[in-house]
Amino acid sequence: MEYSAAIKKLPRTYLPEGFEVRDWSSLEPFFTELAARPLDSAGALQQWLLDVSEVESVVSEDACWRQIKMTCDTENTSLEEAFNFFMMEIQPKLQPYSDLLNRKLVDSPFTNELDQAKYFTYLRNVRKNIDLFREANIPLQAELNVEAQQFGMIAGKMTVEVNGQEYTLQQAAKFLEDPDRTLREEVYRKINDRRLADKGALNTLYSTLLAKRHQVALNAGFTNYRDFRFAELGRFDYDKDACYQFHEAVKLHVMPLVNQIYETKKKKLGLDTLRPWDVEAEPAGVKPLRPFSTGEELVEKTIECFDGLRPFFGDCLRTMKQMGHLDLESRKGKAPGGYNCPLAESGAPFIFMNAAGQLDDVTTMVHEGGHAIHSFLSHGLELNGFKEYPTEIAEVASMSMELFSMNHWNVFFDNKEELTRAKEQQLERVITIFPWIATIDKFQHWIYEHPRHTEEERASVWVDILTEFTSPVLDFSGLDHYRNYSWQRQLHLFEVPFYYIEYGIAQLGAIGLWQQYKKDPSEAVKNYLAALSLGGTRTLPDLFAAAGLEFDFSPGHISGLMGFVKDELDALAQVA
Ligand SMILES: [Zn+2]
Repeated sequence: MEYSAAIKKLPRTYLPEGFEVRDWSSLEPFFTELAARPLDSAGALQQWLLDVSEVESVVSEDACWRQIKMTCDTENTSLEEAFNFFMMEIQPKLQPYSDLLNRKLVDSPFTNELDQAKYFTYLRNVRKNIDLFREANIPLQAELNVEAQQFGMIAGKMTVEVNGQEYTLQQAAKFLEDPDRTLREEVYRKINDRRLADKGALNTLYSTLLAKRHQVALNAGFTNYRDFRFAELGRFDYDKDACYQFHEAVKLHVMPLVNQIYETKKKKLGLDTLRPWDVEAEPAGVKPLRPFSTGEELVEKTIECFDGLRPFFGDCLRTMKQMGHLDLESRKGKAPGGYNCPLAESGAPFIFMNAAGQLDDVTTMVHEGGHAIHSFLSHGLELNGFKEYPTEIAEVASMSMELFSMNHWNVFFDNKEELTRAKEQQLERVITIFPWIATIDKFQHWIYEHPRHTEEERASVWVDILTEFTSPVLDFSGLDHYRNYSWQRQLHLFEVPFYYIEYGIAQLGAIGLWQQYKKDPSEAVKNYLAALSLGGTRTLPDLFAAAGLEFDFSPGHISGLMGFVKDELDALAQVA
């Protein structure tokens, strides 16, 4: 199979070439026509599906650009207004039509004549959307879309001063790797004090979001937002009990490894107690890893690294760079976090992140690069709906790339010692991320099952859950005032509720693919490409199967994979 990054914008056959989404009145005639058009033959249905898909792609790309531009510059109010206008004035008018079109599709006698294997997941999603649609939720969802962005507005303003210079919190994080312990503690406290300064605003924002989400769930006939959201996210293949089982498995099979990692760290640093500001530190005399300094250097090195895996991967990033679809460096006024935003009509996605020169940023870059490759691979699928793949497989695409790419990380480092250290840190992260995933997931289950909780209860339950998944090797004494609110740094809680267990499920898939890679790199990459090229046209277990993976997050499976990562980590320690 040949793969090419020479991506083409979808040709328009229904909307005029120069059409742009300005307001609802410019869009309405197309929706009215689609709703009224007779579907009197299988051919007519096919054409109608293509036309609906074209409109969806154009509208979705327009909305994505509004979000991208706003997150790149949160201080520009006209960009915020453009985003809000879409969410408040266009989206609410469009939703009843989407529902109408969905019903028209399932009611058509010709729908049964569609290739049922090819359309199975697509039609299942359409039926799910019909089931969940409620007129009364339209204004609530519009408000939620706008208000959730307030998190980025609040966090984007956060900076601290270190040695007389102003840094974003992402930039300041590099001081936590410094061998100077006093400096680390000072910066750790500054970062956390800065976050605390907005704790009231973030608590109020979260309460507002929760109340509206709960109402959305009630309106749709659910007793709580968790159950509504599981349905909305299309979690057809696992339930809340599987999540609870995952939390317990993390305690049983991952926490012992986390403890070992921290014990080793403590010894290496020669400390009696390991404090939170020591976790990223290097021992005296060891320089922190600085794999790149500018965004330009980050992308050039990542391209080189991807070329080593497969030239198609490097080409995807080259194409994006040429098109100006990268905004990588951290700066004040930029929203926090990182994402790959697919652009449905033009095909090449956009990568946004907050790089400050650390190894973490390399991980984020190759992670988002994996998402980008997924976007390229699925762009050629016939319908926009075919490209809407489950988030669990999306994260397999990105997290596998974190592990695959390690073999070519030499482009980021001058010598073997640094390279080994980088790989060690990455593998430690593969393990230590699990307790945080379990914490965030478990917290959300409680939050949405208890919609009337107070802010005090929220803080106290958070600390209980956090403590369950905090290694006893770490000493947090005297830092409770930070711990009570540390959930506030997790963007997903505000912007994409319940999108977190995915990272756990996907990390297991990624480790599985990496096991394949260790045996036979070209076979593993072949499976990766084959699975991602399917987009969303298969069920989640089938997408995993296409990558040669089992869809399984049982305790036994988790324990086996963790053992493999631990062995790899031990092997690295022998080299070092
Ligand atoms: Zn991701």
